[in-house]
Amino acid sequence: MSTFVVVGGDAAGMSAASKAKRDDPDLEVVVFEKGEWVSYGACGLPYYVKGEIQSLEELVSVTPEQFREERDIDLRTGHEVVDIDTDDRTVTARHDGGEVVQSYDHLLVATGARAVTPPIDGLDRSGVFTLGSMSDGKQLREYVARARESGDLQQPDRGPACQFLENCTGPVGIVGGGYIGVEMAEALAANGFEVHLFQRGDRVLKQFSEATSEAVLDHLDEQDVRVYLGADVEALAGDDAVAAVETADERVPVEMVLVGTGVRPRTDLAAAAGIELGETGAIATDAYRETNAPDVYAAGDCAEATHVVTGDPVYVPLALTANRHGRAVGQTVAGTPTEGGGVAGTAAVKAFEVEAARTGCLDHDEARAAGFDPLTETIEAKSRAGYYPEGGTVRVTLTVDRPTGRVLGGSLVSEYGEGAVHRSHALVGAVTEGVAVDELSNYDLAYAPPFNTTWDPVLTAAKVVDGTR
Ligand SMILES: Cc1cc2nc3c(=O)[nH]c(=O)nc-3n(C[C@H](O)[C@H](O)[C@H](O)COP(=O)(O)OP(=O)(O)OC[C@H]3O[C@@H](n4cnc5c(N)ncnc54)[C@H](O)[C@@H]3O)c2cc1C
Repeated sequence: MSTFVVVGGDAAGMSAASKAKRDDPDLEVVVFEKGEWVSYGACGLPYYVKGEIQSLEELVSVTPEQFREERDIDLRTGHEVVDIDTDDRTVTARHDGGEVVQSYDHLLVATGARAVTPPIDGLDRSGVFTLGSMSDGKQLREYVARARESGDLQQPDRGPACQFLENCTGPVGIVGGGYIGVEMAEALAANGFEVHLFQRGDRVLKQFSEATSEAVLDHLDEQDVRVYLGADVEALAGDDAVAAVETADERVPVEMVLVGTGVRPRTDLAAAAGIELGETGAIATDAYRETNAPDVYAAGDCAEATHVVTGDPVYVPLALTANRHGRAVGQTVAGTPTEGGGVAGTAAVKAFEVEAARTGCLDHDEARAAGFDPLTETIEAKSRAGYYPEGGTVRVTLTVDRPTGRVLGGSLVSEYGEGAVHRSHALVGAVTEGVAVDELSNYDLAYAPPFNTTWDPVLTAAKVVDGTR
């Protein structure tokens, strides 16, 4: 019997294990997970902290018992793999103070990512959090609950963000204006905290278009989130507990700080085993996710992928890629070689009452480096037929290659529920297939008054960009 060993029991690891076992029931599948949680949706953590999701268990899609009993997977939680020997084809895992050695025929490294530790003094003070794991989520939720109960600092007139409380607590700091920082601004403000968000660059959500960033920034302002742009946080000051966020220009008193400055691939284990890392710092693989070590694969947040527009290796640690690439590895190991496909860097975010999505290559320097001559235009259009009740606006940014018209990337923003995210799917198709913008403008998109105008904003954007190039 052939043995497939997986290191890491979340999106990539459990997708691979499940698919391999389903396609080849004779395969022995062993998963080592150092924690207690498997197959959990970290993406739901901000909404758990916010209070919209009541228990961490709700974030788990398949329980350890289900994997063991219904899927016949040998899942070993509380096992940290500390060594991979690619010559002997074994892994060594620590468990309960002892060690177990497991041989493999195929191995998947799916060790995920860890939160970046930025060079800021005072990260070890109490009251400083990150949000990378289920236990981080638990701690944050407990903090929120304690603060709400104590209600020490009450500021009765906190405006629209203070949805759940009559009296509000705070102030709190968020370091980082990426999607986790923005989602957590919503989660904390909804619980009545006065939120101060510090972003090093000149805009929030810098992976999105400038127009999207501006719209989200304006909305954060409407929701009373104080955003500090160009704010290089130098220290989280205080005694034992954090008491202030310090930048070169400001000292903002806070009771708590969430640090959300991005993630780095967790590669130590693979690197120590001689598995090559790519130029992004994540594990390098071929199109089948196989590393330089024979029959050793890597997928998910620990690995790099190929960008569908530039063809370059990129590091875009997101959930669908982890699931997709993990599943492809499972299928390959079970006997059907399967490529997991490239990535377009497609991402979505909700910020209070605004939603945004982005895909492809929006950055002009990156586009030029890949040999394109980028042109970017933004349009604003109604989200529904003018005569239809309610509705709002959608801003669509398109970046195209001027000479060929190829759609390189797009970014959309609308009021929540007005379709920026769902509209982005048409752009993902165009970006992935290398479609020209005039072809995009002729896409036969669905139309009915409650959903859009006859010419959907995406089509309008395509026509406008095509006309200006
Ligand atoms: C707060 C938050 C919000 C997010 N929101 C979104 C979102 O909205 N959309 C989106 O697409 N993505 C989102 N993500 C990212 C998404 O969660 C990840 O892309 C996805 O979880 C990656 O899956 P993975 O299996 O590669 O890695 P992980 O989920 O990190 O899992 C890796 C697992 O490996 C285990 N492990 C590591 N080392 C070892 C070892 N040596 N031995 C045994 N086990 C080990 C870890 O304990 C972990 O359980 C979010 C992430 C966070 C933290």
